[in-house]
Amino acid sequence: MDFQLSEQQRDLQQLVRGIAQKELKALATRWDRTHEFPWESIRILASAGVLGLTIPEQYGGAGASWFEAVLAIEEVARACYQTAMAVLGELGVQTQVIVHYGTDAHKDRYLPPIARGELICAICMTEPDAGSDVGALKTRAEAVEGGYVLNGSKILISRADVAGVFVTFVRFGNVPGSRGIGAVLIDRDTPGLEIGPGDETLGGEQLFPVYFHDLRVREDAVLVKEHGFRKLMSAFNGQRCLNAAISLGQAQGAFDEALSYVQSRQQFGQRLADFQGIQWLLADMAIDLDAARLLMYRAAANAGAGLPDQVEAAKAKAFANEAAIRVSNQAMQLFGGHGYLKSMPVERYVRGARFGALAGGTPQIQRNIIAESLVGRRRMPRD
Ligand SMILES: Cc1cc2nc3c(=O)[nH]c(=O)nc-3n(C[C@H](O)[C@H](O)[C@H](O)COP(=O)(O)OP(=O)(O)OC[C@H]3O[C@@H](n4cnc5c(N)ncnc54)[C@H](O)[C@@H]3O)c2cc1C
Repeated sequence: MDFQLSEQQRDLQQLVRGIAQKELKALATRWDRTHEFPWESIRILASAGVLGLTIPEQYGGAGASWFEAVLAIEEVARACYQTAMAVLGELGVQTQVIVHYGTDAHKDRYLPPIARGELICAICMTEPDAGSDVGALKTRAEAVEGGYVLNGSKILISRADVAGVFVTFVRFGNVPGSRGIGAVLIDRDTPGLEIGPGDETLGGEQLFPVYFHDLRVREDAVLVKEHGFRKLMSAFNGQRCLNAAISLGQAQGAFDEALSYVQSRQQFGQRLADFQGIQWLLADMAIDLDAARLLMYRAAANAGAGLPDQVEAAKAKAFANEAAIRVSNQAMQLFGGHGYLKSMPVERYVRGARFGALAGGTPQIQRNIIAESLVGRRRMPRD
């Protein structure tokens, strides 16, 4: 395994870092306070040609590798959580399901505007009674002449306010457990689609309930059906690497702030950075950052042009999510009472760093995946 960046990868990292530090960071407070979707930041990234990284070139993307995608999204997150979350929606599981399993018509229709940052694609998976236990979802797709009728509801859905299309996990007919699960594409203007009021989150974005009332889709809106659950979960392995990269970017951003602060703040007649107790804290933070980065690089690098391995992605996500909480909290500690002020960026990083461990499969669920690879599959109560 070689984690030396190629010249092209270093150029991409420098390009995104420059844009993120000069332009995106200045907008971060605005998105945090207003809870608006960060359109301006998305346009900045689009005009620099760094959107659609994991979308094939024939559909207007960059056709880049997962390794390049995690390099880029880490730099975006290091500057602005909200923009990184918007980019996650652009590159994440919903887009990957279309790239890897969609028909040519799906790809022609949806991928080019997603790659330009003009079409936002939401992923509707979580339900009131099916969170970590995705296989328990109840939203039903009943076969009718020429298509399906959907009924059910989803919760905690990101970007539902601005999304133009919704990749929606459904249960086809009465097939129980994960075997019945697949996904359909629902355009925003489809009759029977209702977006409920948004709930504000700790990180600043809003999450929405989404309802389907006798909503009709045509047969060609089906994205995955046969082996649907396996395909959807394998696309999630890409999302998990991106989620790890956002956690890492938040942690790195908090660390940058703290490192600079302890070198300028004086107490007891010397810089905070000169106390050994503080130096060891910084060293622990640096170890966490590097370990998280290496696990993520391995999962992304080994994916090549395909999707990352499930266990490698699980290790990368669980470690980065928890390291981000540790590092950002330690960073706030180094600011003393000043770190608690809303006007200090470190406070925003602490809130943003909390997201990773709550979304996209918690670290507990990642540990279940890792443990299954060690000791075999556990029997779940409904099996
Ligand atoms: C910022 C954010 C954005 C989100 N965006 C979306 C989105 O766009 N689309 C979408 O569909 N969903 C989204 N979600 C929802 C998210 O995917 C779920 O919240 C997550 O899967 C956990 O489900 P839950 O909240 O129902 O928790 P639960 O599944 O009820 O879990 C509660 C707790 O129990 C633990 N737990 C559960 N099962 C086990 C087990 N078997 N062993 C050990 N511990 C276990 C969990 O780790 C957790 O700590 C988002 C969530 C957040 C925070």
